[in-house]
Amino acid sequence: MDDCLFCKIAAGTIPAKIVYQDELIVAFDDIRPQAPTHTLIIPREHFAALPDVPAAKGDLLAHILVKAPLIAAAKGIGASGYRIVLNTGRDSGQDVFHIHFHLLGGRRMAWPPG
Ligand code: AMP
Ligand code: ZN
Repeated sequence: MDDCLFCKIAAGTIPAKIVYQDELIVAFDDIRPQAPTHTLIIPREHFAALPDVPAAKGDLLAHILVKAPLIAAAKGIGASGYRIVLNTGRDSGQDVFHIHFHLLGGRRMAWPPG
């Protein structure tokens, strides 16, 4: 999609610290990390938010979750644990409207989240 920051990162036209990529997804480090490890995982295909992903694309969401442990291991937090967060819509605090999963770790996470 034109004029989408994360589409541009996926296409390589805006630089990012890429952690993992394949034909379906890209993982890159968050520019304002909220934990020692803070990596974003996105589908290459543009969907603004979770309700915009059709049921037929369920495998794509599953692919992200299947790859997340490998990405966490590559970041060195596979054994210590991590949190995966998907913000969607206004009250969640979603800022970038290209669906993305936050992979956070390297410190103890609080619950409930803020
Ligand atoms: P959210 O609030 O869930 O929409 O999260 C958007 C995330 O994107 C925030 O954690 C930002 O720090 C991150 N972000 C914004 N711009 C960039 C960028 N150019 N490269 C990497 N991460 C970014
Ligand atoms: Zn996009």
